[in-house]
Amino acid sequence: MIFSLPRSLSTFLSGSRCVCLPGHIAFSVLLMVLSLLLGCGATPLPKTVKTDYDAIVIGSGMGGLSAGTHLALAGKKVLVLEQHFKVGGCTSSFVRGDFAFDTALHEMAVGGGDGGFVKKIVKEAGIYDKVEWIRLPKLGRSIFPGREIIQTEGIENYQATLIKNWPEEEEGIRAYFQLMSRINTEVTELRGIFLGNPLKALLTKMAIPLRQRTLAKYYKRTLQEVLDEFFHNKELKATVSQFWVYHGPPPSKQWAIIYLVAQNSYLINGGWQFKGSSSSLSEAYADRIQELGGEVRTNTLVTKILVDDGRVTGVETVNGERFTSRFVVSNADPFQTFYKLVGEDKTPRKIIKQLHDMKPSTSLAGVYLGLDVPAAYWGIDDYEIFYNKTWDYDEMYDAMLNARYDEGLVSMTFYSNLPDDFYAPPDKAALVLHTYSDYDYWSDDEVIYEQQKEHMINSLITMAEDIMPGLRDHIMYQEGMTPKTIHHYTMNYKGAPYGMDFTVDQRDRFEAETPIAGLYMAGSWVFPSHSVSMAQVSGYMAARMIAKRDK
Ligand SMILES: Cc1cc2nc3c(=O)[nH]c(=O)nc-3n(C[C@H](O)[C@H](O)[C@H](O)COP(=O)(O)OP(=O)(O)OC[C@H]3O[C@@H](n4cnc5c(N)ncnc54)[C@H](O)[C@@H]3O)c2cc1C
Repeated sequence: MIFSLPRSLSTFLSGSRCVCLPGHIAFSVLLMVLSLLLGCGATPLPKTVKTDYDAIVIGSGMGGLSAGTHLALAGKKVLVLEQHFKVGGCTSSFVRGDFAFDTALHEMAVGGGDGGFVKKIVKEAGIYDKVEWIRLPKLGRSIFPGREIIQTEGIENYQATLIKNWPEEEEGIRAYFQLMSRINTEVTELRGIFLGNPLKALLTKMAIPLRQRTLAKYYKRTLQEVLDEFFHNKELKATVSQFWVYHGPPPSKQWAIIYLVAQNSYLINGGWQFKGSSSSLSEAYADRIQELGGEVRTNTLVTKILVDDGRVTGVETVNGERFTSRFVVSNADPFQTFYKLVGEDKTPRKIIKQLHDMKPSTSLAGVYLGLDVPAAYWGIDDYEIFYNKTWDYDEMYDAMLNARYDEGLVSMTFYSNLPDDFYAPPDKAALVLHTYSDYDYWSDDEVIYEQQKEHMINSLITMAEDIMPGLRDHIMYQEGMTPKTIHHYTMNYKGAPYGMDFTVDQRDRFEAETPIAGLYMAGSWVFPSHSVSMAQVSGYMAARMIAKRDK
């Protein structure tokens, strides 16, 4: 099992049971005290029993907050329990002196359709006007050896950029974007899947081979296979698939459909941030839940999902409080949800098999930097730069996963280049560098871990210095983050940022409705997908399903 405990405790604990050493009375007493503090050993009696919630949401990431809000809108009395002191999970930010950083969000897609269907869900939640949306002027700048490409918005603009660079590939370029639009149209036709009616969803899925033929044709393809069908030039393929980094595995393994749908959304409806960081969105959701009569409690770790005779009955928290409810939505990852909170003995075999067979997304590492000069000092007005050391994504992915970061790819997000004074004073800059990183690479030994972190930070800064010469001399504040940091703040298994890895063989994600009656899931691990926007969609779907079931 996988849950990391502080090393000093994990030495004494095996699984979740205390190991007592006979004869060592003092030691046993210490263990008893520890077990009481940790809530293991004999189950303490619950301190409080509260029964007036219709639905309890575990975790306040985008999936949890969206589920909570839409449930409250459906008239349910909602309780959201969050272990961290702040709501939002990945969708959060923090302040250090003069500087502020978004913990994760680079840019949010809003989905396809007119204006973006995610915006419609946010409107329905009643918080659209409670946040200030910032549309990014361009999606990013890709820097490759010997060539730079601006990743513009708008299909026509983007096509023109590509055709200008690779005129001999015009036919393939046009055909690729036609395919992208077609896939998006067909995915939009599947809206029956999103409406919370399981029978309708099943029928819609079964009819795909007849009704959505293009989608069916490309359903089992990797992104690389699609690129190879339309393009010859390796550099063109790399340019078109640059945004693979937002979805996990490189094009050779990434599920083509997820890429094409997301690319369509970015090109048609833009990339977005929020004034005052993505925290503004999380806080707006939390406020809305409370406005609708719900409750949001931070600093409250859920330690158990109560299941009786195959049906959820409530949750228990680390403080020994017990809350009963007919519905529970878990925004925690499925490994924690089932192995730890429900318990393996109460988890259906189908889920155990899924958890055993599926691989989480590769984690991320990076560094948050506060600079004593603005990015304009280097002539940079970009918000997002992708700096690729080669044209070969497989090579770079392998390098990053083996801690050879300087042979890989770094995304450079200049938060202070947003029209928002939240991140840094005008004469300074807030910059975040991100790279992929394997959770298992990171040592449990503190000294080695710190050395690994220093190596990662140095490598990324050295890379960034290719574009920002002398960067090191301008650093006022620096803080590294690793897969363990992500795990610590979100409790996501192996610090996975995007739920299960979006490889072509893992295209079927967990359903929101679990085989345990009354237990639902929301967030990155669940259909339809990871990301700040899709996690909101999953919460919306879970809420709709519950509302339907509750009738
Ligand atoms: C570095 C990084 C960069 C990213 N960049 C982007 C981007 O540019 N665009 C984009 O769209 N997406 C991006 N993502 C992905 C996106 O942030 C996530 O997919 C999404 O926010 C996850 O939402 P979620 O609902 O799954 O919940 P999470 O954000 O994973 O939050 C889960 C919440 O549940 C809480 N919790 C867990 N267990 C318990 C428990 N037992 N009791 C109480 N609370 C619990 C956690 O504390 C946490 O608050 C990025 C992610 C990372 C890490």
